[in-house]
Amino acid sequence: MKLMYYVSKIRQDNGDHEVHHETCRVVPKPENRRALGEFSDCKDAVSAAKEIYPTADGCKICSPSCNTR
Ligand SMILES: [Zn+2]
Repeated sequence: MKLMYYVSKIRQDNGDHEVHHETCRVVPKPENRRALGEFSDCKDAVSAAKEIYPTADGCKICSPSCNTR
């Protein structure tokens, strides 16, 4: 199953831009996120996000397997 993924425009205190999928309960508001496209794996979504923000990282709530920090 593919999900729409988003990267937050807001940098966290640790410098990361978190990557969320559309059903995450903490997904940023539309004005605070950029759409990455549909992916079946958060790793592909984080790779796409890193083209925009090199410090992109998976959200620990919706994408724990892609959360490295
Ligand atoms: Zn999330």
